[in-house]
Amino acid sequence: MFGIIEPGGLYHPFTDGRVAHVTWAQVAQVDLFEVDRDDRFFWEDAHYWALSALDGTHWTVYSRHARKHGLLKQLEAALPGFVRGRAVQALRTRATGVFWQRAIIACPQDGGPMIDAPELQPAELPWDRILRCPGCGTVVTAGYQRWR
Ligand SMILES: [Zn+2]
Repeated sequence: MFGIIEPGGLYHPFTDGRVAHVTWAQVAQVDLFEVDRDDRFFWEDAHYWALSALDGTHWTVYSRHARKHGLLKQLEAALPGFVRGRAVQALRTRATGVFWQRAIIACPQDGGPMIDAPELQPAELPWDRILRCPGCGTVVTAGYQRWR
């Protein structure tokens, strides 16, 4: 579904009044796609970002909307290892495919994927990488943080 950028994530309004949301913390992968000239109207964007969430939902954001509302800046701040400069470079060079992936680590309790939890980062151990299971709340320390 197409995503409209809001602070901290995306939302999608349905015609029946329901609204779906995804937060950056739920994003597991970011892809960049290019639409051929033959497969789009001339006023439509040639590029869009596709975000895959840990719950299996997929979201698309056209590059024009992304640029207007600072998507790459938000993703750089929220996704470990996501570099805005490289994303801009990918757009310029018309690269497509998987652009960023969250390093998936299985929860020791239920096997579910764990996500980065910077809110749990101990101030005295800033280099540790803290992960939390969104399913059961289990917290683990997984090596070192990536450079940002
Ligand atoms: Zn768990």
